[in-house]
Amino acid sequence: MSHVHYQEVTCRSALNQVRGRVPFRWSLNPYGACSHRCAFCYARAYARRADRPSDERYGQTVRVKLNVADMLAGELARPGWRHESIAIGTATDPYQPAEGRYRLTHACLERLVAVSNPFSITTRGPLVVRDIDLLVEASRRAAVSVAFSVPTLDERIWRATEPGTAPPRQRLRALGMLIEAGVRTGVFVAPVLPRLSDRPELLEQVVIAAREAGAAFVWMEMLHLKPGSREHFLAMLAEQFPEQLPLYQRLYARRAYLPASEIAPVRARLNELSRRHGIADRRSFRPAPPKPERQLRLAL
Ligand code: SF4
Repeated sequence: MSHVHYQEVTCRSALNQVRGRVPFRWSLNPYGACSHRCAFCYARAYARRADRPSDERYGQTVRVKLNVADMLAGELARPGWRHESIAIGTATDPYQPAEGRYRLTHACLERLVAVSNPFSITTRGPLVVRDIDLLVEASRRAAVSVAFSVPTLDERIWRATEPGTAPPRQRLRALGMLIEAGVRTGVFVAPVLPRLSDRPELLEQVVIAAREAGAAFVWMEMLHLKPGSREHFLAMLAEQFPEQLPLYQRLYARRAYLPASEIAPVRARLNELSRRHGIADRRSFRPAPPKPERQLRLAL
C-alpha cells in the first residue's frame, strides 16, 4: 500500500446534519478521507465536489480532526440537542488505520457514553474490538448498533475492490466478539455489485458466515456510482473484470442509482436467505440499563 499522509486539522463542528434518502439525521466522521481506498467508495464523489482527488490518489491523505471529540462534547451539551441517534462512519471508516494512532473515534465514543446518547457505527475495521468495553457500556445506556460492511467473501472481488481493508472473515470474527459481549452487531452487505457479488451462491455464502458469526441482522445496499466514484470504479472494472464493463456502462449511464427492477430481486433474495438461515438477534448477553448509583460512579 502506498504511504498515507496524515494531515492534522481542527474542525469547526463535529456533527453533520444529513438530509435525503438515509435513515439518520446526524452523522459523525472523525477522519476526512479513508485509507481503505475501496474502488466503489461513494466518498470519492464528496472528494470531487470538494475539489480533492477522487482517483487513485484518494485516501493517500487522511485529514485527522484533532479536536473532534471536544467539539462533539460541546454540541451534545447544547440545550437544544434532543439526543437523536448519530451515525458514525457514513463517509469515512471510523476504524481505518488512522484510528490505531489517533483514537479519535474512541474519544468520541467516550463523549457519547458520558451523556447516554444513542449511535450506530458502520465499519470494515476489526480494530473496533479495541472499544468493546466502551460499546458494552454504551449499549447499557442507549440504543447502539455496529454494522460490519461485508459485501462478499469472494477473494478475487474483495482484493480487486477493497485494496486497503482487512479480510472479510476478520471482520466476521470481530463481529462474533462484539455479539458475545452483548453489543447489537450485524452485517451490511454493501455495496452489492450487479452480476459480480449479487450471484446467489455468493450472497448465500455471506449470509451463512454472518449467521455462524452470530449476526443480529443483515442489511444490504446495491452499488451506486456518483461522479467521482463512477470514473474510478469503471477504471477498476476495465482492468479487473473487463467483461462486465459494457453492462455497468449501461446500468450507470444516466443515473447513479440502479432502477428498482434491479434492486428488488437482490433484496428479496437476501431477505429469503436471511429467513432460511435464521438470522436473528441471538446475543448471549443483553445489556440492561445501569442502576442510577452505578451511572454516577462511572468515570468514563
Ligand atoms: S472503508 Fe468505507 S469509507 Fe473507507 S474507502 Fe471503503 S467504502 Fe470508503
